[in-house]
Amino acid sequence: MSAKTILIIGGGVIGLSIAYYAMRAGYHVTIVERGAPDHDACSLGNAGMIVPSHFVPLAAPSIVAYGLRAMWNPESPFYIRPRLSRDLLDWGWKFMRAATAAWVDRAAPLLRDLSLASRRCFVELADEWGNTFSLVQKGSLMLCKTEHALHEESGTVERANRLGVPAQVLTPEETARLEPNLTMDIAGAVYFPKDCHLSPQHFVAELTRLLMDGSAQFHWRTEVVGWRAHERRIESVRTDKGALQADEYVIAGGAWSPRIAHGLRAYLPMQAGKGYSLTLRHPKQMPEICAILAEARVAVTPMPLDSALRFGGTMEIAGLDESINSARVRGIINAVPQYLPAFAPGDFRDVPVWRGLRPVSPDGLPYVGRLRSYNNLSVATGHAMLGLSLGPVTGELMAQVLSGAQPAIDMMLLDPDRFV
Ligand SMILES: Cc1cc2nc3c(=O)[nH]c(=O)nc-3n(C[C@H](O)[C@H](O)[C@H](O)COP(=O)(O)OP(=O)(O)OC[C@H]3O[C@@H](n4cnc5c(N)ncnc54)[C@H](O)[C@@H]3O)c2cc1C
Repeated sequence: MSAKTILIIGGGVIGLSIAYYAMRAGYHVTIVERGAPDHDACSLGNAGMIVPSHFVPLAAPSIVAYGLRAMWNPESPFYIRPRLSRDLLDWGWKFMRAATAAWVDRAAPLLRDLSLASRRCFVELADEWGNTFSLVQKGSLMLCKTEHALHEESGTVERANRLGVPAQVLTPEETARLEPNLTMDIAGAVYFPKDCHLSPQHFVAELTRLLMDGSAQFHWRTEVVGWRAHERRIESVRTDKGALQADEYVIAGGAWSPRIAHGLRAYLPMQAGKGYSLTLRHPKQMPEICAILAEARVAVTPMPLDSALRFGGTMEIAGLDESINSARVRGIINAVPQYLPAFAPGDFRDVPVWRGLRPVSPDGLPYVGRLRSYNNLSVATGHAMLGLSLGPVTGELMAQVLSGAQPAIDMMLLDPDRFV
């Protein structure tokens, strides 16, 4: 009997990871991507952090409190553009309902398990591929400018240790000993030794190359525009280049996934969370450990393969709008010298601004698994700030789902029909 054919929509880190693990499991894989082979997507210019430390879902009381404070400042890292949109109101209502302490307690162990399993996959892939994407296993630092932030982060440390994610509060001197290459003006830091970082563009390029060199088939510059379904079965997917058929279909279109699923019996509440990054080539100082500037919510990631240092941040809920909001970008640039005084806003002059749309579900967990209304349709999206971190584990789990095997991690909370 010939192997099942799997058609995956979306060539971001999620779609490619599913394709990679499904190919390894022996399936015939086809990837349909509306962009060219060198297309940009959220998966490329992100901060490259692999973060078991991020076990608190986005839908949390602390995020609601922070968001309400930050919303009124045009340079703040969090913003919801007010719009008369039914989807936004529906998403906002679901977000507020989900953001409870009880939900954080339920979701945190799952996020921890997913992140640690994905970290294990990254280590295995780095070993197998010769670390072509420069995985650095040195942890991450949450740099706090103020005592107040350090005190707040200390609460996370206790919780992290209780969950089995090692974390430690450091004085400025201890932080400097750990990261001697960087001048820091901080009240202290939290160190998460299990976090890692990598070059996302090299990881995505390597996945694509291995798939192309293997048995996978790519349909580049091909946009999915609709579906043909009969009762509980998807018969084909319609694209702007004609219909394509497979045994199984997986929607992994990032922030565009609800649009791709239009016309199907599927309900995937989602907002695009726009973020920006700026990458300095040959920066004045090159840290070894990735960091987050805590109050400013700016990620700082060394990318040694390109002798580059990337600064990324902001979460702007403004629809599927890819325009660049210069006030938010200024917020990132102005925050950097407050923590890292060797850098100045002038360092970012003429540095191109990258933007990406994160797929953000209202409860802070991705949608991964089969849709109930069809026998041969699955979804893997909504990973928000964790899409790179959770790419490989999503690929591994989806390969298990597609084979009918019992997934290694309980996926009940990831059910893509949970809001139906
Ligand atoms: C500033 C910033 C920093 C970040 N930092 C991190 C980090 O440090 N760690 C981390 O884990 N995550 C991080 N993220 C989040 C992460 O980048 C995303 O969660 C992840 O890239 C989502 O991947 P995806 O494959 O779901 O979506 P995408 O990368 O957006 O891929 C979706 C693909 O689907 C294609 N597509 C859409 N519609 C169609 C269609 N109709 N037909 C065919 N193809 C279609 C698109 O062209 C695209 O290539 C960051 C994000 C931002 C913005």
